[in-house]
Amino acid sequence: MQHHELWQAVLGEIELQISKPNFLTWMKHSQLIEKKEESGVALVGLPNNFAKEWVKNRYHKIILGSLRNFDSSIKNVTYAVVHQNTAPIKEVVSASDKKHDDSPNTPLPLELKIDPKSNLNPKYDLSSFIVGSSNELAYAAIQAVIKDVGKKYNPLFVYGGVGLGKTHLLQAAGNEISHIYKRSVSVLYVTSEKFLNDVVSSIRNKRMEDMKKKYRDVDVLIIDDIQFIGGKATTEQEFFHTFNALYEHNKQIILSSDRAPSAIPTLEERLRSRFEGGMIVDIAYPDYEMRLAILKTKIQNQRVIMDEKTIEYIASKVQRNIRELEGVLNKVVFYTQYKDSLIDQKKLDEIINETTHVSSRNITAQEVIKSVADFFEVPVNDLINRSRKKEIVEPRQIAMYLLRDMLKLSYPHIGEKLGKRDHTTVIHACEKISKDIMQNSPLNQKIILIKERLFKT
Ligand code: ADP
Ligand code: MG
Repeated sequence: MQHHELWQAVLGEIELQISKPNFLTWMKHSQLIEKKEESGVALVGLPNNFAKEWVKNRYHKIILGSLRNFDSSIKNVTYAVVHQNTAPIKEVVSASDKKHDDSPNTPLPLELKIDPKSNLNPKYDLSSFIVGSSNELAYAAIQAVIKDVGKKYNPLFVYGGVGLGKTHLLQAAGNEISHIYKRSVSVLYVTSEKFLNDVVSSIRNKRMEDMKKKYRDVDVLIIDDIQFIGGKATTEQEFFHTFNALYEHNKQIILSSDRAPSAIPTLEERLRSRFEGGMIVDIAYPDYEMRLAILKTKIQNQRVIMDEKTIEYIASKVQRNIRELEGVLNKVVFYTQYKDSLIDQKKLDEIINETTHVSSRNITAQEVIKSVADFFEVPVNDLINRSRKKEIVEPRQIAMYLLRDMLKLSYPHIGEKLGKRDHTTVIHACEKISKDIMQNSPLNQKIILIKERLFKT
């Protein structure tokens, strides 16, 4: 059990470091078999020799590093082939997952249940999707589509930043449609990467007809992360024809993207206007309340106990990404259970920082100030000089808050940098912003966007 938990925590960390397809292909079926106490060697099992070699050659460093993060007594890792039926992977099956399971006595590991025909993963369902102000529109649109497949919003285009629940929502919609309409409605879920691969290989193998059949015979086509088809002419063309064929027959199309159609620079104009002809909804960053709700629900589902202060602290710190929120939660749960100790502030901050990559790059005070100034379109000089213009007040307070929160500069130092203010003014500003973030979602969004830009540069 301990091994299983340690490995879940490690996987949670690795998932953030490698691409999703790679994670699903190579790491998803791995397990920690044993840890030799004397030598500190951990043995990791993979389902076949190919996977074993691949993982060993490509991910050894990440695996060792991550294991050592959680258990510093681990010195090395070796790999072995372990067939899954001899040592089945335990999966946590949530109450809502069980609902659709027609053979409750023999629950299979979830990854074995991905439906080969639809590509849908049953772990995503609507009942575990938490709805708040940042995603209620997207949720409502999905509900409408489920109710009126192909008729109401077509295509439905959902966009939003990384880790904000697009895949969850799209897959859950697919699952719900399959569940309600059973065999009368066929659903196909693919990532745009998969679609692209299919186009390329069907051209190479001269099997365009198969490809057409596969994509044009469905009633609901869901394509995740459609932004990746932008700029790939053949794929766009094929998608355009698929789109038209489905659309003309009132088949439902659901798409997701990390940005709005108008912001995908390489997207062909005719595709863009097709997308814009349907319903476009965005998923914004979750506000504090919602982050808290998500944490509490996940904690409840995992049947663990965590003190209120820690939960609130995590919710206040991890703002940009629900996947990271889950990652931090899993690590904290693991830490408190595996080490059997309460987590202290230092460790908590460490986990949050490494998961949210806050410390991945040395951001300077100048960069922070400049990005705030750019964001609000005010001159940098107004922020750093004594300007008392009204429109400077909020940007300057935000800059103070960010310098404190991200760079941990001292209050007097921050005061010195921004308008020669007294340190009590800085403390007041930092406290005010921290408090406002909790209640005021537009302010929160601004701060997240400023941080986002800082991390992207
Ligand atoms: P995206 O596709 O937008 O990058 P995902 O759908 O993969 O994001 O979501 C990342 C993680 O966060 C997933 O584990 C997902 O289940 C979880 N998640 C996202 N949004 C919600 C939500 N509203 N309620 C519960 N879990 C969520
Ligand atoms: Mg996704």
